[in-house]
Amino acid sequence: MKTAFVSDIHGNLTALEAVLADIDLHKVDEIVCLGDTVGYGPQPRECLALVRKRCNLVLMGNHENAVLNGAEHFTPLARIAIDWTSQQLRDPDILRYLSSLRPAKKYRGALLVHGSVRDPLFDYVREADSPWMFYRLVQTLREDFKGFELCFVGHNHRAFLGTEVGYIFPHSGDDSPRTKFHLENQKAYVSIGSVGQPRDGDRRASWVLYDGESVEFHRVEYDRQITVDLIHEAGLPEFLADRLLYGE
Ligand code: ZN
Repeated sequence: MKTAFVSDIHGNLTALEAVLADIDLHKVDEIVCLGDTVGYGPQPRECLALVRKRCNLVLMGNHENAVLNGAEHFTPLARIAIDWTSQQLRDPDILRYLSSLRPAKKYRGALLVHGSVRDPLFDYVREADSPWMFYRLVQTLREDFKGFELCFVGHNHRAFLGTEVGYIFPHSGDDSPRTKFHLENQKAYVSIGSVGQPRDGDRRASWVLYDGESVEFHRVEYDRQITVDLIHEAGLPEFLADRLLYGE
């Protein structure tokens, strides 16, 4: 059973199409999206339509939540973007679909969350968090999160693997498009990075392949100038275009 994980597409259709083309080369059985399909980027409708068509399971991210419930916690620039995004998504069918999503799900023995186990919608898993603390939280905080060996997270836009002994950054200092790690039944969480707005210093789109025994981190090049031009055309903040060019 091969599962592809994508997350934080953020309205970047060109990046999403490039990632799906790469996923298709690997003949996966299912595709899972960990949320934030919309927000920041210029093509939220197109990305939602493609995710609905291609993904077997989709989580709610904090940006979908902001479209439905408002964006008080957002920075001023993020709020400009979410206001614009909400205008694009004014459609009863789309809003009904977004309302049906949840920020955490159990999936084939693993736990999937958009944010973290402390708060599946808003909290971030960061490298500064000790893995030990993470597992203590898994064991104590939420009755329904107990007993999981493996947790997949999005939201932080950074690709890395956290285990009980520390963190591994798959692409630090090298350009290889993929890096594979065997899990060997150890407890781990897999931060799968962002398709549409990476912030780990690697501007290529990120996705992860999981086959039940190993995780393989993938990075994919795409024509980011197309998205940059569309951000300008839409009148979205310049900062959102700059981020794509630097991957920060
Ligand atoms: Zn995000």
